[in-house]
Amino acid sequence: MTDRIARSVEGVQAATREALFEPSLRLGVTGLSRAGKTVFITGLIANLLNRGRMPQFSAARDGRIEAAYLQPQPDDTLPRFDYEGHLAALTGDDPRWPQSTRAISELRLSLRYRPGGWFAGLRGPQVLHLDIVDYPGEWLLDLALMDKSYAEWSETTLARIAKRPEAAEFLALARAEDGALRLDEARAQLLAGAFTAYLQAARAVGWSDCTPGRFLLPGDLAGSPVLTFAPLPRPAQSPRGSLWREMDRRYEAYKSRVVTPFFRDHFARLDRQVVLLDVLGAIHQGPRAVEDLRRTMAEVLAAFRIGRTGWLSALLGARKVEKILFAATKADHLHHEQHPALTAITQELLAEAKARADFAGAETAAMSLAGLRATVEERVERDGQSLPAVRGRLLSTGKTAVMYPGALPGDPARILSPAREGAERWLDAEFGLMGFAPARITLKPGEGPPHIRLDRAVEFLIGDQL
Ligand code: GDP
Repeated sequence: MTDRIARSVEGVQAATREALFEPSLRLGVTGLSRAGKTVFITGLIANLLNRGRMPQFSAARDGRIEAAYLQPQPDDTLPRFDYEGHLAALTGDDPRWPQSTRAISELRLSLRYRPGGWFAGLRGPQVLHLDIVDYPGEWLLDLALMDKSYAEWSETTLARIAKRPEAAEFLALARAEDGALRLDEARAQLLAGAFTAYLQAARAVGWSDCTPGRFLLPGDLAGSPVLTFAPLPRPAQSPRGSLWREMDRRYEAYKSRVVTPFFRDHFARLDRQVVLLDVLGAIHQGPRAVEDLRRTMAEVLAAFRIGRTGWLSALLGARKVEKILFAATKADHLHHEQHPALTAITQELLAEAKARADFAGAETAAMSLAGLRATVEERVERDGQSLPAVRGRLLSTGKTAVMYPGALPGDPARILSPAREGAERWLDAEFGLMGFAPARITLKPGEGPPHIRLDRAVEFLIGDQL
């Protein structure tokens, strides 16, 4: 009996030790809609579980990872990231791209490893829990709302969208509205519906500044009053019970009931962050989309700024994100010879935001990667020149095609200057992109799906913890 008690005490101690000493690291993955978050996380987890394609991840390369496994996540109220479903879509017999990120979700991956560096040999195997939190970058844009009153937000929004054809219908409705009149719920819904339709159309043609974030990705808030408001011209008077007053109240409720809880409960707890950008997609769309992406990312990244708004720094206290990785996704659309040019453009695109923010002292890096490599490299002969191209299966027809998207300039200014100057199109070149479907793959034991630089990304993000 003594023995049994002793053993159960040991058991309790082991459990306490586990709770106390097994560190966890929260890794945020964000980016605007369609940036590639879902594919990135799925590829990352698959390649951490099976590490045959991770030579630049030093702990894996040195054979120090003894086991990697998925575990129940620590937060009971967050949806689980549907890793198995997404992986099945990407690697099934008829491979497809998975359903994109629509709201926040989480997954815990645990690594049992033998420490490297100073501690090698001194300590036995350790466990690190990696909590991956996927959330829409649009939600970070909402930070800008926190310092704005409804009147200010209405004014700036209406001015910004005044010339956009996608906004014409909503603007006509909003201008015809008299905010001083008594609230009529049907009118409020009509206005919010038209504003949401504008945001969707704006997103579809490539505008990135589509806030409030939940209008596009409402999750379970769809149809609720916190999402039933829209910017309006300010009436001379706004008596109690008027449309303007009620819109103002709902806008404030959106801030306190939707934006604040997200920053407090999720954003404030992140240790490391990946920010994904579809730079190639923007270049393909033209200078305006590049400039828009640049401006929007500066706004997104304001959340990581030193001397943030009083509101956010009060919330975060001394906590900060220690490392931020900026990654241009879908790099498998380019031959690797062109990757340095893509990374340079990405860096330059974020340069101003970085100069302004310095990201609260966090260590930062930029790279080009692909969560799932859908192409193989090939050279094509054109006009007597050998060009670096890629080959893949077209999303539209399923047929194989070879693509040379055009020469990305080595000097990022050749992309960013025309974008800043408001050019309509690129002068010296077109950058064509084809949509590729994921390739059919047969995986060898111990190998994850093909990718580009996920190993370097992991090394930067968590290498120092192992
Ligand atoms: P999310 O909205 O950020 O979750 O974006 P997704 O991860 O769903 O990606 C959006 C789309 O971009 C996908 O459906 C694919 O068409 C494409 N995509 C994402 N990652 C890759 C990649 O690594 N390679 C290629 N070729 N396409 C990608």
